[in-house]
Amino acid sequence: NSTSPIRPREAIAALPTYAAGKPPVPAEGLTPYKLSSNENPLGPVPAAAAAAAEAQALHRYPNPGAEVLRAELARHLQVPVEDIVTGTGSLGALTQIINTFAGTSADGTADEVIYPWRSFEAYPIVVRTAGAKDVTVAVTETGEHDLEAMAQAITERTRVIMLCTPNNPTGPALRHQAVEEFLTKVPSDIVVVVDEAYLEFVRSEDPVDGLALYRKYPNVVLLRTFSKAHGLAGLRVGYSISQAAITEHLRKAAVPFGVSAVAEAAAVASLQNLHEVHQRVEEIVEERQRVAAALAEAGWQIPTTEGNFVWLPLGAESLDFAQLAGEQALAVRAFAGEGVRVTIGEPEANDRFIQLCRTYRSTPG
Ligand code: PMP
Repeated sequence: NSTSPIRPREAIAALPTYAAGKPPVPAEGLTPYKLSSNENPLGPVPAAAAAAAEAQALHRYPNPGAEVLRAELARHLQVPVEDIVTGTGSLGALTQIINTFAGTSADGTADEVIYPWRSFEAYPIVVRTAGAKDVTVAVTETGEHDLEAMAQAITERTRVIMLCTPNNPTGPALRHQAVEEFLTKVPSDIVVVVDEAYLEFVRSEDPVDGLALYRKYPNVVLLRTFSKAHGLAGLRVGYSISQAAITEHLRKAAVPFGVSAVAEAAAVASLQNLHEVHQRVEEIVEERQRVAAALAEAGWQIPTTEGNFVWLPLGAESLDFAQLAGEQALAVRAFAGEGVRVTIGEPEANDRFIQLCRTYRSTPG
């Protein structure tokens, strides 16, 4: 309401509101499918769902610092428990990282945060609400990070650099060797966040070994989540891994009790049933490969996809394509003028999506 005297900070006034993936609109005789938020169609493993349902003492605050979950993660990942910081989703953990290392200085100049674009839509929100300035570097035509241009974008104001592997929404994963080379060009006082939200789905050659990077570089922070492979997006739990040089500062910016008791119980149970989690991930990866092969056969040229989604670089046709998908009761995510991101869903949803892509390509005009 522009007549109200209430005014947000300038950075907030200029921000677009985050547009979350929409649910599908039912169509005659078709089961609706939501392929717009990169969720896991198989859901959590039964033990995780049961642990959430059976969580006790809900009138009590959860474990401070989610210490049970952190201990379980430390055991699985073979890292010291102090190096793990949990958050309300990996977005909560990322917000904490940005708030800790980037903002506006006392003299009014904004710190700079470099990230690839297009990438995850929440990055500009997190960076700008912290009072920092975003410096975006365009991804290549094949949807990959332009690491050389990102290194060149570094200035003395740069405080944080984001890498997203695989990149949401375009799909390709970074190679370990390329990231190592990049890190040698980054001054050691700049924090490099490696967003590994879709880590478990990667099947590429020379994938990023995040844990090796974290062990070697005190300025690297890994960002991970239970929302994708573990199918727990609704419970909001994620974490970061970094050395003491970073975590000692990070903890101060934590929102106390950011992980609920219910979320912690489910995440711990999911880790204790990792074999089953990986079986589900494998099913999704197989479906992804089936979808990618079918699209290639139908003449589509799309970037390599290493997450649980595919990217259709449709440019000006993006909104029209999303509309057609909507008529087929498939909710997809369109980025006007750029492309459409479609989550790998249930086999029937993927079949319908493949069919739509075939028809679309064979229709003249
Ligand atoms: N990073 C990337 C690249 C993502 O795509 C997402 C979710 N879409 C997130 C982080 C945030 O996930 P969450 O907060 O659910 O852990």
